[in-house]
Amino acid sequence: MKFYKESITKTYNILLNKKVENINHLIPSNYENINSATGYKIAYLSDINIFLFRGLVHGSYYLYDKAICNKKACNFLSCTCGFHAFKDKKRALVELSKHIGTIMLEVELYSDIVIHQFGYRGREQDIIRIFLPDKCSKFLCSNPTSGLYLKDKCYQTICSEHKNTFISIKELRISFGLDVLVLPSEY
Ligand SMILES: [Zn+2]
Ligand SMILES: [Zn+2]
Repeated sequence: MKFYKESITKTYNILLNKKVENINHLIPSNYENINSATGYKIAYLSDINIFLFRGLVHGSYYLYDKAICNKKACNFLSCTCGFHAFKDKKRALVELSKHIGTIMLEVELYSDIVIHQFGYRGREQDIIRIFLPDKCSKFLCSNPTSGLYLKDKCYQTICSEHKNTFISIKELRISFGLDVLVLPSEY
């Protein structure tokens, strides 16, 4: 297990176009003793049968996954490979509200981990909890989420008035073997 101090990753730099001068206060003082990091991220659920998720920008991953770098000689510290997650749940919730069809994941990152301004980049990732938006994804519908249905290659929230058949929250919990929670309406 290695924890690296890194000011900010290239990927986040590009995505958010921000520069940070001092991040020392963001790094936990006991970082050498931490074996994993819990973070939050948003994703598309693209296949419910094989538990496949797709990232916003690129890449797909399963419930438990290990990053494979496409560089010949990967130096994890300076590379951008791996799984990204926000440390702050609120930051992930902001992203969730901007991207239709996404869900939020709570993940544990482990193996090699890089800490950066917004969270973590890890070589291995376990999804430990799934959060669904509270409202039906149909345009202008404000009914509460009853479950998920497949639309445009990803599973989106749906209410019981819009669909008779959908995958219920209970069915999702059983098939994933994880907590599947609908977010409270004031997020
Ligand atoms: Zn790499
Ligand atoms: Zn609806």
